[in-house]
Amino acid sequence: TSPSDQIRAGIRDVPDFPKPGIVFKDIAPILSDPELLKKSINLLTATAGDVNIDKVVGIDARGFIFAAPVALALNAGFVPIRKQGKLPWQTHSMAYSLEYGENVVEIHKDAILPGENVLLVDDLLATGGTAAAAIKLIDQLEANLIAASFLIELNFLNGRDLLGDTRVEAVVDF
Ligand code: IMP
Repeated sequence: TSPSDQIRAGIRDVPDFPKPGIVFKDIAPILSDPELLKKSINLLTATAGDVNIDKVVGIDARGFIFAAPVALALNAGFVPIRKQGKLPWQTHSMAYSLEYGENVVEIHKDAILPGENVLLVDDLLATGGTAAAAIKLIDQLEANLIAASFLIELNFLNGRDLLGDTRVEAVVDF
């Protein structure tokens, strides 16, 4: 079986979390397995291709787990996009709508220089709202987004349709 099939097999479905009717994809069994964790990092790192990446941007909070090791593997820096009120320095903010209400994510204004090559990393692409907001922040910094890479993509939610012409990569999809 291929590394991505092994990762797929390690993802645990949790019905009715965080609320009734939602089947949550739980990556904890992957994180706790040294081989699956390493394969996950390697496959995410490979999505950069031949491009020299300056910054790997991770999304709060599970995105951080993957983005920092990918940054090390690519000899790139790591940049967090965080939920509102967590970053201490000057920020750009972007709101996006949820089923009920809205969320705000932020990035430090000096986190990426104009023209730097960026890889965006998160654990999972669902509706695409979170990643779309992250991409807008990266665009505000005039960075060059090479790809948005996810460990998991939930195809049936069509999240990539929200991401414009960004190259979208996923290690496994459902
Ligand atoms: P979206 O904005 O609807 O695409 O949701 C993506 C964000 O929600 C990511 O940052 C994920 O960490 C989180 N998320 C949504 N659904 C799941 C899931 O089933 N498992 C793990 N994380 C999820």
